[in-house]
Amino acid sequence: MSALLEARGLSKRFGGVVAADAVSFSLAPGEMLAMIGPNGAGKSTTFAMVGGQLAPDSGRVLLDGADVTGLSPAALFRRGIGRTFQVAQTFATMTVCENVQMALLSAAGEVFGLWRTARARHREAALEALARVGMAQAADRPTATLAYGDVKRVELAIALAARPRVLLMDEPTAGMAAQERAELMALVRTIARERAIGVLFTEHDMGAVFAHADRILVLVRGEIVAAGAPEAVREDARVRAAYLGE
Ligand code: ADP
Ligand code: MG
Repeated sequence: MSALLEARGLSKRFGGVVAADAVSFSLAPGEMLAMIGPNGAGKSTTFAMVGGQLAPDSGRVLLDGADVTGLSPAALFRRGIGRTFQVAQTFATMTVCENVQMALLSAAGEVFGLWRTARARHREAALEALARVGMAQAADRPTATLAYGDVKRVELAIALAARPRVLLMDEPTAGMAAQERAELMALVRTIARERAIGVLFTEHDMGAVFAHADRILVLVRGEIVAAGAPEAVREDARVRAAYLGE
């Protein structure tokens, strides 16, 4: 059986910097896979190669065993590779529900001019996604009035509304307080399991990583130096030396 998502030997160089050096991993349905490593390790570069924002110099990305290397972000999105978008990309003057509907509209490739007719169709799906992240009661409020942690939940709803099979989350909890961070990661994990979504995420908070990841990849200078279950990675001497500062 092939993995949901597989990266095979992804490499990317920027001038003299090898940002990613033959990065390989696989992601199973419902799995929470964390990618950790110091700043500049190549995490965002790897995400961008999987999400289609960057073409790899070499290596392949497979989705359900099919080669999707080099497809555009929009094409990958239509095939089920979603990602969370940052707060700046939501429209503050629109309501929470409209933001989710807007995301569905663009995911469906519908033109903006059809907004008035098309959005009615997407309201139900948007409300369902908002309800799943505990934000149904805020559906008709302007997004600008939300607390920061709630904006993060809306970002998750936007990603979920498109029914992704793979979710890429590059620092989804940036700027959140520890308690909110733990709650959001627990919610993502629950939803990933119930919908069989494979989640690849980065996270600075090692407590959240070790609590919510099924497996951890450790990237140092573009290379995966360790991979495995949290307990195994925590005990890995190379990880302690290279990353955990022990
Ligand atoms: P991380 O997300 O783990 O902090 P990045 O993937 O952002 O790491 O960066 C990996 C390396 O690649 C760093 O040395 C960074 O400076 C470099 N890099 C990333 N993106 C670019 C770019 N667009 N142009 C030049 N260098 C880049
Ligand atoms: Mg990064």
